Amino acid sequence: MNLKKILLSPPHMGGNEQTYIAKAFQDNWIVPAGPHIDLFERGLENFFKENIQVTALQSGTAAIHLGLQLLGVQKDDEVLCQSLTFVASVNPVLYLGATPVFVGSEKETWNMCPIALEEAILNRLKNGIRPKAIAVVHLYGMPAKMDEIIALSKKYNIPILEDAAEALGSFYNNKPCGTLGDFGVLSFNGNKIITTSGGGALISHSDVDKKKAIFLATQAKEDAVHYEHKQMGYNYRMSNISASIGLGQLEVLQNHLQLRRQNNTFYQQLFDTISEATLHQEPNENFISNHWLNVIQLASYSQREALRLHLEKNNIESRPVWKPMHLQPLFQDNLYFGNDLTDKLFDNGLCLPSGSNLSEEDFNRIKEAIRSFFI
Ligand SMILES: *Cc1c(COP(=O)(O)O)cnc(C)c1O
Repeated sequence: MNLKKILLSPPHMGGNEQTYIAKAFQDNWIVPAGPHIDLFERGLENFFKENIQVTALQSGTAAIHLGLQLLGVQKDDEVLCQSLTFVASVNPVLYLGATPVFVGSEKETWNMCPIALEEAILNRLKNGIRPKAIAVVHLYGMPAKMDEIIALSKKYNIPILEDAAEALGSFYNNKPCGTLGDFGVLSFNGNKIITTSGGGALISHSDVDKKKAIFLATQAKEDAVHYEHKQMGYNYRMSNISASIGLGQLEVLQNHLQLRRQNNTFYQQLFDTISEATLHQEPNENFISNHWLNVIQLASYSQREALRLHLEKNNIESRPVWKPMHLQPLFQDNLYFGNDLTDKLFDNGLCLPSGSNLSEEDFNRIKEAIRSFFI
């Protein structure tokens, strides 16, 4: 096969990344501190146009870890987690010695179902346990039903960690995803909307919280010349080199978002004529997805797998929907509140190539391959 492989969501450089890296080398800022980290944080803060603070870290997973810790999650606590997600949303709960309690999806956004969430909260309260946090995810960029989830958060006084790792540039009721919870999380891994090769950020709503995040991310070093430590910390701060890549990527963020939405338009037109597959779309205009990945639901597991193999034969990458956490061997003893919709989304769902750097030729190959499968 001499056709180049079409990937799901590869890195897409803007052009100026290496200029910023060269500048960092020139000034010898090749450390996990420096001016490009500050500029990258400020650039993101400006993007959100909200009164928020951004702390740049080595990964989205690190941001989730710090966010949960800042919400007070400790050993033997319980955290209410969306089951349908990537394991990075949940692993930090384990780092803290806490226990995830899983909540299933609702059919419109595929994210945490508010009805199942309340059922889970009531069950845990009945058992004398007050969950410490709600860890909701905007999966594939699709905003979760935040009005309902925030209402439950207030009603039961349980704070929200908002995993917006896949949702930079998504909006809910005109508010940017990542800024709706008590803390928000972004990821700049290689496959996300923008990348710093690897990286992430914690979004907070006060200077105090940002200071605490930086403190924990830099080994919890007290303000003393002799390295005084009163509590355990981590080495989680983003490097100035990664932030240099981030500065180049910020310049093309709006463009990348526009291109991702154009991909969605392409898939809408394609699947309009194919009744056997349904493209995942926003339920109404209060939800604006960045369409990080375009995902379809097929009639059955076997059809999903057949299409995946057909695309693979054509050198086109596709991938099943994330395997829900409540079905993972790692979490076989954890509680789950929800119905079998979550399992079905996994069985029948397939993610399609959605990078912001797809070419006309790529689109044609994808169209041909998908059409030839169904016709
Ligand atoms: C990518 C991702 C993360 C983790 O981000 P990293 O930067 O890879 O650590 C967390 N949650 C979700 C839903 C993700 O897709």
